[in-house]
Amino acid sequence: MKLTDEIKKRRTFGIISHPDAGKTTLTEKLLLFGGAIQTAGAVKSNKIKKHATSDFMEIERQRGISVATSVMGFEYRDLNINILDTPGHKDFAEDTYRTLSAVDSVIVVIDVAKGVEPQTEKLVGVARMRQIPMIVFINKLDREGKDPVDLLDEVEEKLGLSVLPLSWPIGMGQRFKGVYNIYKQELILFDPHGQQDEDNILKITNPDLETLEPLVGKFAAEEFLSELEIVTMVYDDFDRDAYQKGDQVPVFFGSAINNFGVKEMLDGFVEFAPSPLARQTEERVVRPEEDDFSGFVFKIHANMDPRHRDRIAFLRIVSGKFERNKFYHHVRKDTKMRFSNPTTFMAARKELVEESFPGDIVGLYDPGNFKIGDALTDGEVLHFKGIPRFSPELFRMVINKDPLRFKQLDKGIRQLMDEGVAQLFTQVMGNQKVIGTVGALQFDVIKYRLEHEYGANCDYHQVNIHKAIWLEILDKEEFRDFEKRKMKDLAYDKDEQLVYLPETAWALQMARDNYPGIKFHETSEF
Ligand code: GDP
Repeated sequence: MKLTDEIKKRRTFGIISHPDAGKTTLTEKLLLFGGAIQTAGAVKSNKIKKHATSDFMEIERQRGISVATSVMGFEYRDLNINILDTPGHKDFAEDTYRTLSAVDSVIVVIDVAKGVEPQTEKLVGVARMRQIPMIVFINKLDREGKDPVDLLDEVEEKLGLSVLPLSWPIGMGQRFKGVYNIYKQELILFDPHGQQDEDNILKITNPDLETLEPLVGKFAAEEFLSELEIVTMVYDDFDRDAYQKGDQVPVFFGSAINNFGVKEMLDGFVEFAPSPLARQTEERVVRPEEDDFSGFVFKIHANMDPRHRDRIAFLRIVSGKFERNKFYHHVRKDTKMRFSNPTTFMAARKELVEESFPGDIVGLYDPGNFKIGDALTDGEVLHFKGIPRFSPELFRMVINKDPLRFKQLDKGIRQLMDEGVAQLFTQVMGNQKVIGTVGALQFDVIKYRLEHEYGANCDYHQVNIHKAIWLEILDKEEFRDFEKRKMKDLAYDKDEQLVYLPETAWALQMARDNYPGIKFHETSEF
């Protein structure tokens, strides 16, 4: 098959949601449609349960699960679809941000009763920043929830998205009768005790009271018709261009657990979602159909077994064809490398792969060669963009408790940072190491893993740091003054980029006001 045909066949996307909205359940139903799994319950939630936040074994166990569910591939209507898992837990948000660099579109799951929740807001914010095309699935219609019109207003307001309902619910909770697929002009009736099958789907081009009343009852029919009237009046038509730029977001309603409305969304997804897209590098735009192979590492996962320290690096293929045992160029290290055991991920199965194409995710066994963001190519020097680091929320200074094991600590910290567990800042004055994380949980994970995987022992000291701010120096003179005054708050990140670690929000604001010749960025990529 030609490269362009392979590319056209592929869809790579992520599902994002606040925990408990139904991401795992939806993923499972999608895999069932694709025949990738046979039974419900096969997909394990990679959620870090609330009670597990201090239970390290539980964290480790769940990390294991999340390797298996990191990428799940399935086939549907002649397409190869890859779902990339994104942790909903806020302490792992950084992981999700990076995963979003490897997808071409996302599905956002929202609980009809809870509406837009904090994690939804954050993750959609990142997706919007990257102009990733999105589809929204409003879940749990079998339960009482918010009025759909109000809910869509909330989505528009809180997420800053322009929505377009492509299906509309008829009732909800106890009175849930089904959804009307506006796009396909089909009515899908909900049978709370049965399976969704073709018998429950009726072609109804112009829904009116006469046709609907016998099917769903007078009250539901009337309510639905008046809502549909509003919907057709208020919302624009579907505009593929606007969707692909992330400006317009199709919305579907359903109930994942009942496998209801899921197929309608999947069919919509298959029709709209983009095939593998070009990626921006510092050098140029790389298109998938280019003959030369290229790809980048967006995730690194440590082996759970402490006796086998090797890790799995997840490579997103951007262009050309990836082949097993062929030599590729590791750009950062400027060396040649080949891989004898690359794997793909079909649902919970891992399989050896001979060749892979743009959009695919390949797992590479890694004894420690890779960092997040690393590029592999056929020889060209490329640096992929779109994997920025964001300012952590929490900071602690690392104290070595066992001076004789200084080397182990150093190596351990470096490797954990390469994996992207947290970010390391080395202070310009005194070389002290400061670790920044998104959530408190990571500090425990790091301490535990340093001890168990590297035999190093560390403690943390509290430090007063508000944020990590990357500096862009426009005026050198001004910077020299800034440097003199703020030396103790300056540090280098892992790429030797200069970072300002202000103690308070106020200090940051003052710096912004006083130094117009310096730009203060909350991400490493600007
Ligand atoms: P995640 O945290 O987003 O992965 O959410 P899960 O898929 O684990 O779902 C969270 C809870 O919501 C589970 O108890 C599910 O059984 C339940 N759930 C998921 N979908 C539905 C639905 O359509 N209706 C109802 N009533 N419950 C659902």
